[in-house]
Parts: sequence; structure tokens; C-alpha cells
Amino acid sequence: MSCVHDTLTHLRQSSPAQTEFYQAAGEILECLQPVLDAEPRYREYAIIERIVEPERQIFFRVCWTDDVGQVRVNKGYRIQFSSALGPYKGGLRFHPTVNASIIKFLGFEQIFKNALTGLPLGGAKGGSDFDPKGKSDAEIMRFCQSFMNELYRHIGPTTDVPAGDIGVGTREIGYLYGQYKRLTGHYHGVLTGKGVGWGGSLGRKEATGYGTVYFAQHLLHARGEDIAGKRCLVSGAGNVAIYTIEKLYQLGALPITCSDSLGTIHHPAGVNLETLKLLKEVKRTSLREYPAHHPDASWIPRADYPQDGHAVWRFKADIAFPSATQNELTAADAQVLLSNGIICIAEGANMGSTSAAIDVLLASDVAYGPGKAANAGGVATSQLEMVQNSSMQQWPLERVDSQLREIMSNIHRSCTQAAAEFGQPHNLVLGANIAGFRRVANAMIEQGVY
Ligand code: NAP
Repeated sequence: MSCVHDTLTHLRQSSPAQTEFYQAAGEILECLQPVLDAEPRYREYAIIERIVEPERQIFFRVCWTDDVGQVRVNKGYRIQFSSALGPYKGGLRFHPTVNASIIKFLGFEQIFKNALTGLPLGGAKGGSDFDPKGKSDAEIMRFCQSFMNELYRHIGPTTDVPAGDIGVGTREIGYLYGQYKRLTGHYHGVLTGKGVGWGGSLGRKEATGYGTVYFAQHLLHARGEDIAGKRCLVSGAGNVAIYTIEKLYQLGALPITCSDSLGTIHHPAGVNLETLKLLKEVKRTSLREYPAHHPDASWIPRADYPQDGHAVWRFKADIAFPSATQNELTAADAQVLLSNGIICIAEGANMGSTSAAIDVLLASDVAYGPGKAANAGGVATSQLEMVQNSSMQQWPLERVDSQLREIMSNIHRSCTQAAAEFGQPHNLVLGANIAGFRRVANAMIEQGVY
């Protein structure tokens, strides 16, 4: 049996009931067989066995008091997966579905994504099963303060630098940062995604969405196509979806959908960005209210979704941007997209497609950019924020955006080169996993066994 097979089997025994983590580990490790065959030293140094085990896992209790004086308890997580390439880096997710498996899958993906950026970044992820929905600002602040009361011991500007993810935006980063300062007395870059008035980088909020669209441009250019004039399907209505839609308009494309946890909006004339920002960034409410602003748009409630997938992928378009959450594009969705003539899929979400969907996409001639490559612009710009913080500077937006473009171009090139080297030039899943892995594995060998 291969070491990949043995490692995956062992993981199921040693880390029971971690479905999403097995999925992420399986998808990545199975791509690595050719590189393990070509480079025997990766086996000699047990890189596969070591890379699937986090360097450190911190699980903690988060107690806080709600607005009626009731004491509440949540679970907190920070999983520091790999420091081979730099300080641990990866977001915090606050969502009721969060558990150890979700944080481990995200942390594992983050190792390879961060390696692909070419920047000095290790991989980590964290979060809580706390649900920010329906909570007052004061409750969110008290929760964030309590979360930081434990987290501050484990983070630092050169050790571990968390950022946002689902449910953690500038507001939550602000409350977390305020408490970190209160506890340590330090005003330094220990979190990214900060407000631009107090240490944040211009362009960080937009970076994941913009970067995903830049990546899609590279996928299209490689096939002699351009993004201008293309009809696009976007899922999600949060940070990544909003700035994907914004960049699509800037480049002359037409985004016709968005979605949230309650349903999907289809707006054939084009999603109205102003309304979307109003509902999601200002009012923090459901997209259900969108048709009241635009009667020519339709609302498909979640209860009416097809049983085997997501309503958002059932409309005819040229490009799809999964930008909400993991496994939101199924094999059945992939089949419908292909029969509707889709030419490109770029994932803003992490592990946006199921394993079966990826098999369908790789067997077709669609240009498919997996999340760890396509959405790496967010973490890359977080690293630019860290550089600005350590030199007490703030760069102009143009400088940040031009570095983001260059990084996305480099990521596309390194994925394509690795895919071609291993005989599958259009398989960027293979290319991304191999290119990211080699950088981490070589560093692990050079740093000795630890
Ligand atoms: P966000 O601002 O919290 O937005 C998430 C959006 O997805 C919301 O519209 C939410 O709906 C929807 N959503 C979340 N969970 C869902 C579920 N289980 N079913 C249906 N809809 C769901 O988060 P985000 O930062 O945009 O992150 C979106 C994705 O991008 C995630 O996979 C994240 O890991 C990935 N990502 C984010 C970044 C970043 O810089 N933020 C970087 C790389 C990758 P509601 O509005 O109803 O809550």
C-alpha cells in the first residue's frame, strides 16, 4: 500500500469523525503520488505523515453574557498546522457549523494556499461555533473579548496572525484587536483585516474577491477568452461575493446571481451592487428583501432548491464563482453548468466543490481554478498588511492592488507549470497541490525533524 493510502487510513482512526478534514486531506494527498514517486526523499523524511498532523491544536471554552444577563458558552479553536514557511496565518470563522473537522480542513488547505503565494506564511485556522446572526453589537463585542482572553496567549506578529473568514469581518476584528491591546499593551500587527484607519491595509477587504476575478482572467486568457461581456453566477453575499461582483462590473462582466443562507437571487439585468452592500454590509439582513428594491429580480428560497444541489448553479452563464461555503457545488450542479455551456469556474470559497463535482469538472474541458489557488489573494494581501504594520506605513491602494495582481499571476503560473510538468497541463487541482506541497516539504526537510 502507498504511504498516501496508509496515512489516510490512519487519519480516520486517529482523528475520528472529521469528514471535511478527510475530504481535504484525501483531495490533496491523492494528487501528490506522482511527486512522491519522483522525489523519494519526501518519503524518507515522512513528510506526508507529518504534514497531516497540526503542530498545535488549541481548543478552549468561551463564556460570555448576553443582553438579558444569561451566561452563554461556546467552543473556541485555533489550529496551528504548519510553521515551515513563516508565522501561522489563516482566518477565524464564527458560524454555528464550526467544529474541529471544519477548522482542520480549513487549516490544512491554508498550508498549501499560503505556500502558493510565494510569501513567508505558515498555515492555521481558528474560530468558534458562535453564531453572530441576531446578536447585538454589545453581545458580539463581549463574545470577541472573551474569545481573545484565551487566544492572545497563542498569537503574535511573528508567531500567529489570524484574520477574518465567515462571520468575522472588520467589526469583529476590531473588537478582537481592542481586547488584544488591552491584555498585552501592544499595538502591532497581530490580526489582519483591521480597519483602514487603525492599521488595516487599503485593498484588504476587496482582495479575496478581486483576486479570484484576476485568477479567472488568467484562466480565460490561457484559452484565448476574455472576461468582458461574460455572464457570471456568484454564490454568497458576504465579503468574497460582494467584491467578486464589484470587480466583475469593473471588468465589463455581468454578475446575475448571489445567494445567502436563506436563498438565491436571480437578477438577469445584473445584481445591483449598491443594494447588495446596503442589505449585507449596512443592514446585515437577508437577501429576501432584495426584490422589494428590484422587482425584476427573483428570490428562490432554500426550500425550493433542487434536492441534489444549489439553485444558483441552475442558471445559464459563462463563468461561475462559488463564494459562500464548502461543498456548495455538487456533481449534479457541475453537470447542469456544463450542459448550460459554462467555460470557467473560479472558487472564492474554500473547498467550494464536492469531490464528485471536481471529478466531473476535471473530466470536462472547463477551466477550473480550485479555491486554494483562486482565492489566495486574501491571505496574500494580509501579508502585505503585516509588512505595512511592521514598518508603521500605509501603502496607497494602487501599490496593494498591483502587488495583488502580480501575486495572482505568479500563482497561476506556478500551478500551470507544475500541472504541465506532471503531464496534465489543464489540471490546476494537481498543479496547485504539487506546487504548494513542494515549497512546504522542501522547507520541512531543510529545517530538520521537529
Ligand atoms: P462572509 O462575509 O461571512 O459571507 C459568507 C456568505 O456565505 C454569506 O452570504 C452567508 O450567508 C453565506 N453562507 C455561509 N455559510 C453558508 C451555508 N452553510 N449555506 C449557505 N450560505 C452560507 O464570509 P466570506 O469571508 O465572504 O467567506 C466566504 C467563503 O470564502 C468561505 O468559504 C471562506 O472560507 C472563503 N474565503 C474567505 C476569505 C476572506 O478573505 N474573507 C479568503 C479566502 C477564502 P448569510 O449572509 O445568510 O450569513
